[in-house]
Amino acid sequence: MDRDITLIFHNQGLRSFIEVDLCPECPREDDKGCCGYYSPVFYPTDLAYIMLTKPGLIDDIFRRPHLTILDASVTVNSFIDVDDDGYRCQFHSRQGGCQLPLKLRESVCRHFVCPGIAWWEEVSLQSWKEFFDRLTDYEIATNNELAGTLKERGLTLREPGLRPLFFETLVPLYLDRIRNLPEFITRHPAQEKVVLRRRLVFGKDWRL
Ligand code: SF4
Repeated sequence: MDRDITLIFHNQGLRSFIEVDLCPECPREDDKGCCGYYSPVFYPTDLAYIMLTKPGLIDDIFRRPHLTILDASVTVNSFIDVDDDGYRCQFHSRQGGCQLPLKLRESVCRHFVCPGIAWWEEVSLQSWKEFFDRLTDYEIATNNELAGTLKERGLTLREPGLRPLFFETLVPLYLDRIRNLPEFITRHPAQEKVVLRRRLVFGKDWRL
């Protein structure tokens, strides 16, 4: 079955994301799609953004079970899905999918589009492919630099008692970074909507 799929690319700097209208009707037909195979990892740029926009979510994240907490990141490990084989992300609900607003998700969740759609193979979309490739590298470098600065100041997420000072120190560092974004971000279009026609296959035949 062929289907027109609408994608909207959003350049929002370090919170950029890709909207796909197929996700609510994921051809995997398992009510979870890619969210059954991934555990989100929140890095300094995510944590700072969440602290600025929805600080209560930080508390929610650290109250959750099955966390892997490192010096400057926290992984919210998925649950074993009792309803079928595999896992399910803790933020995922069968009713409505991801419970996190798009811009509060970490970058894998904001950028991921399944290979069945493979928008990056479109000649007309190569500028967005280059944008997201460079953004991924820039985000990794920024997170490493922020993590390095926090470590130099003796701050770590591993120590619950140090977390308030960790965030107090992180937020102004992050704000300084987003005031000076590189040109590949500031000069790239803010948004583009495209429609791609794809042949759908279902269940496990639809690759993730
Ligand atoms: S955070 Fe949301 S988008 Fe990311 S894996 Fe979990 S449910 Fe899916």
